[in-house]
Amino acid sequence: MKTIKKSQKLDNVCYDIRGPVVEEANRMTAEGIDIIMLNTGNPPTFQLNAPDEVIRDIRYNLRTSEAYCHSKGIFPARKAIVQYYQTRGIMHLSEEDVYIGNGSSELVSFCCQALLDDGDELLIPMPDYPLWTASASLAGGKPVHYLCDEASNWYPDLDDIRSKVNANTKGIVVINPNNPTGAVYPREILEGIVKIAVENDLVIFADEIYDQIIYDEMAHIPMASLTEDTLVVTLNGLSKSHRIPGFRVGWMVLSGNREAARDYIEGINILATMRLCANVPAQHAIQTSLGGYQSIDDLVRPGGRLYEQRNIVYKRLNEIPGISCVKPDGALYCFPKIDTARFNITDDVRFALDFLKRERVLIVQGTGFNWTEPDHFRVVFLPAPIELNETMDRLQRFMGSYIQD
Ligand code: PLP
Repeated sequence: MKTIKKSQKLDNVCYDIRGPVVEEANRMTAEGIDIIMLNTGNPPTFQLNAPDEVIRDIRYNLRTSEAYCHSKGIFPARKAIVQYYQTRGIMHLSEEDVYIGNGSSELVSFCCQALLDDGDELLIPMPDYPLWTASASLAGGKPVHYLCDEASNWYPDLDDIRSKVNANTKGIVVINPNNPTGAVYPREILEGIVKIAVENDLVIFADEIYDQIIYDEMAHIPMASLTEDTLVVTLNGLSKSHRIPGFRVGWMVLSGNREAARDYIEGINILATMRLCANVPAQHAIQTSLGGYQSIDDLVRPGGRLYEQRNIVYKRLNEIPGISCVKPDGALYCFPKIDTARFNITDDVRFALDFLKRERVLIVQGTGFNWTEPDHFRVVFLPAPIELNETMDRLQRFMGSYIQD
């Protein structure tokens, strides 16, 4: 039989969070080697489980979830999402503006497929969450990366954004709180992005899946609360805050200038109907998740696991000679810098592989986040303190003797 090739549409699509280093980790696991998997933000694998109430509501509604539902999702869930955003200062929404998806990932693909013609540009942060870059490319668009500046707390560099807007630019993606840097953006930065978007008719894609995972005194400001003048597409879901990534439930909400975006919205509606509907049982988790007591609040305050783990990782990384790290204000990650001259590092995939083979810890190299230099990696701080300290011990030992040849 003739060889079967992947389509050329995938030529520019690279998705390294599950790439060659992960393949090696899988091979080692198959051999029975125990590896600490820090490559994905997968809370339940570290005993950060869903609240009982969420599981109960899904079970309770299982029998009535057999049929396809409305392509945008079940009504009570969409209503609960509207009310959630009302409490965050986003008014003038109706259930019609809400789309529920099989995780927010599915909706990222809708956003790009419905918007981008061949060659259209989408501004995406660098470092990125690579799904956005991959989805823009797959849709035929051109991902253009704007700099998030480590020297300024990893905030987006507004001058760099401005310099990259041209007649082909259709939209800008803002990930806040950020994966992989853990940055939470202040109002001035968000308003600066809104101004550029409004002046240039850009759609704003606000990926806010970590909006409830904020440490210290920081406040999350939803992008959609800042403008009515351009279209804002807010993405969110229950994978992180409610610890059910395997159930695949997320949503997007359209706000702001929907009149100007009527044709684009029609495109989104076509895509939503083509996949009939999202997983119905999991949609029953939404209403209970968005109202009342929020267990995530206990995890992110002092004494809570995520708060304490964030502190451990920040302290331990900065104690390792040749590694430095900006303190994450939100999310589940940090993106430390390596002094590459000190360790002679020229290839960060090799670095991640060497660390994996020697110390049995799986991290993702910075270039997996479309960072151009081999001088960063991402740490997921989900393991409980004992395991996290063990991971940091291993990293410290490894860096103590590592020189890349
Ligand atoms: N957006 C960001 C920034 C993420 O970090 C993730 C997952 O890690 C997603 C979107 C996708 O989440 P899900 O498809 O589980 O809703």
